[in-house]
Amino acid sequence: MSDSLRILAFGAHPVDCDLKVGGMALMYARRGHKVKFVSVTNGDTGHYEVGGGPLARRRYREAQQAAEIAGIEYEILDIHNGQLMPTLENRWWLVRIIRNFKPDLVLTHRPNDYHPDHRYTAQLVQDAAYTVTIPNVEALTPHLSYNPVIMYMSDNFQKPYPFSPDVAVDIDEVLEDKLNMIHCFESEMYEWLPYNLGIEDQVPKSPEARRAWLREWWASTHAKLEMADRYRDLLKRLYGEERGAKIRYAEALEVCEYGAPLTKENLPGLFPFFSE
Ligand SMILES: [Zn+2]
Repeated sequence: MSDSLRILAFGAHPVDCDLKVGGMALMYARRGHKVKFVSVTNGDTGHYEVGGGPLARRRYREAQQAAEIAGIEYEILDIHNGQLMPTLENRWWLVRIIRNFKPDLVLTHRPNDYHPDHRYTAQLVQDAAYTVTIPNVEALTPHLSYNPVIMYMSDNFQKPYPFSPDVAVDIDEVLEDKLNMIHCFESEMYEWLPYNLGIEDQVPKSPEARRAWLREWWASTHAKLEMADRYRDLLKRLYGEERGAKIRYAEALEVCEYGAPLTKENLPGLFPFFSE
C-alpha cells in the first residue's frame, strides 16, 4: 500500500454512494487520496415525468457536479435503472473497472437490501472479488496481484442479520459539503423521492430554500443512520474515549469476507483518520 490511497465505491444508482459514503469521499480526497464513485445503473427510470436518455443524461450531469465538490471521479455505467442483472457480462465489466483503478479499498451495498439493483450491485462486486486476481479471466486487462479489502456501506435492514460495522468514520468536518453533494442531485432529492413519498408539496422552489429543506429532511431520515450514537462504542474504540464521545455524525462500513481481511496491520493505513 502506498501513501496515496485509492478508494472505489460501487452504488446501484446516482446519489447512492454520496448518501452512504460522501463524507468519507470528501475526507479522503482532501487528504490527497484518489476516490472514484461508480453508479452501476444510469438512473433512467426514477422519475414521474421524464425518463430514458434525457433523465440518464441529467443524472450524469448531477453526478459530475457532486464529484466536482468532492474532488473525486464519478462514472455511470449505461445499464437501465431497475434492470441490473448479475450476469457474466456485468461481472467482467466490474472486474475491468476494479483492475484498471487498482483500489486499496472497495465499497458497495450489502446483498440484503430492498432494491434489486442494490442487491445485484453487491452480488456483482462479490463475484468480481478474487476473480480480479486471476490472470486468465479477462486476460487482456492486467490482473491485480492482490485482493483489495471490500466493505459494505451501512443500511437499516435487519434480516438475515443487521449491518454490523467494523469501522466508523467521524464526518463532522465535512457534513455541510456532503449535503452540498447530495443537493446536486435535484432530480432525485427534490423531484423523484418527494414524489414517491407523497411529500412533493413540501419541497421549496428556490435553490437556497431547497438546500435548507434538504438538511432538515436528511436529518429526519438518512441522518438517523449516521447519528454517531449508533456507533458510539466503535467510535470510542477507534478514536479514543474523549474524541469518540464528541462525534455527532459518522459513516460506517462492514467487512465483506470475500475481499482481503481488514487487520490491525492494514487498518491504520486504509483509514488514516483515527490517528490524526
Ligand atoms: Zn439506490
